[in-house]
Amino acid sequence: MTMATLNPDFYRVRTKTIATVGPACRQEHQLAELAAAGVDVFRLNMAHGQIEQHQETLAAIRRVSRNEGRPIGVLADLGGPKIRLGELQSGQVECRQEARLRFVRGETASHPDELVSNYARLIDELKAGDRVMLADGTVALMVEECGADTAVCRVTQSGIVRSRQGINLPGVKIGLPAMTEEDCTHAIWAAQHGVDFVGMSFVRSPDEVLALKAVLRAHGSRAMVIAKIEKPEALDRLEEIVAASDGVMVARGDLGVEIDVAHMPVAQKHIVAVCNRYHKPVIIATQMLDSMQHSRQPTRAEVTDVANAILDGCDACMLSGETAVGEHPQAAVEMMNRIALATEPLLRDRPPLPLSDVRIDDLHRVTEAVVYGVQFIASRLDAKLIVVATHSGATALALSKLRSHVPIVAVSDCEEVSRQMCLNWGVTPLEGAPMRDSDQLIKHIEAWGQRTGTLAPGDHLVLVSGIGLVAHGHNMLVVHEVMSGE
Ligand code: PEP
Repeated sequence: MTMATLNPDFYRVRTKTIATVGPACRQEHQLAELAAAGVDVFRLNMAHGQIEQHQETLAAIRRVSRNEGRPIGVLADLGGPKIRLGELQSGQVECRQEARLRFVRGETASHPDELVSNYARLIDELKAGDRVMLADGTVALMVEECGADTAVCRVTQSGIVRSRQGINLPGVKIGLPAMTEEDCTHAIWAAQHGVDFVGMSFVRSPDEVLALKAVLRAHGSRAMVIAKIEKPEALDRLEEIVAASDGVMVARGDLGVEIDVAHMPVAQKHIVAVCNRYHKPVIIATQMLDSMQHSRQPTRAEVTDVANAILDGCDACMLSGETAVGEHPQAAVEMMNRIALATEPLLRDRPPLPLSDVRIDDLHRVTEAVVYGVQFIASRLDAKLIVVATHSGATALALSKLRSHVPIVAVSDCEEVSRQMCLNWGVTPLEGAPMRDSDQLIKHIEAWGQRTGTLAPGDHLVLVSGIGLVAHGHNMLVVHEVMSGE
């Protein structure tokens, strides 16, 4: 297989790109093309497909990563307790404005005005006045009357719905567990196969996040749990959920149905700000370049949405249908990187961010202070790189969250941490660097920098590391000038 050439701007782009894998990009050569175009993390959508297929995709991504000689992260996104329509009569129902439709028990409808779902208790939990949103909110119903075995609804927003499309119940407290049996099986599979991130859908409380972490840890995995914020209950307990999780996704597909879509942009900004205070990577997801599923060019509004997400302070932007089922997956990834490159210089003009008011658990006070100073030193010297040696990734994350305009190269002695740092804004993780010896490490980085065109003779780099005098703290800072290669 011929190797695709890495996007020449790859190491200049700070915002991370996540691409969802699907039929449009599942072949190994397609994954390699997307990686070369600038994908940092691939997302496996566990709501679709069989585990054997995800297993093959995971193996293919690992091979692509080895061939490219750089870490690439993998996110297994659990489907969660998603309520769906069952089998409708003739496969679809036309919902006419003001028409009456009935939810009935069972999973197969036997009349054109009957609706069924995969959630057996739906009729028991609905009450008059509840809103029922179908097919990503394109069709809306209002519950008018509930009986023992039916719930009569009036169509308030017309449209056509098809079998197995999603049902959202904004504001309705649903008694479903956060993790279905299938989610548990998928989480265990992810743990046993070294997946780097596990996404949890429809999170409502921090305990749910902790329960998933417990499952992963019990199976020997240090995968980061990404809480998907897509319910009003999650917004109500946002700080607790962010604190409990390792990262967050603003899952705008469901969030934009569960809350009034007009409030979604403000919710997005709020979620990003909270994640940045808590030093948690934050992903903006869904419809970022949606029109590129069928067009080579995004709309002006989409380009502006991506740019604004970056300016809000997100770490990563996610592509869903664009790469999974779209006609131009590679063009979508390239566009994401181009928008980031064009937008990020604006972040440079902002004054330095203050230290977070939140106490970050695994960040030593010495490390926090050294990292804060490093950005000023690197900036004053016009350094081309900050190099950080980090075991857990916390130091690289602390630097990333300061949004220093000097690029960060991070090395870890743990392969999994290297892959997890693929999600951190402005951080390029390098595998296989000698971490324990500063001289060797600097030589390694110099060679890498000259090979990738990120360093030239005379450039400065600043190394942040520890010399063991402060337990677990980064107390060493070295300024190095790149020597001529001759
Ligand atoms: C979303 O709702 O935006 C999302 C990313 O979740 P999913 O694709 O699993 O529905």
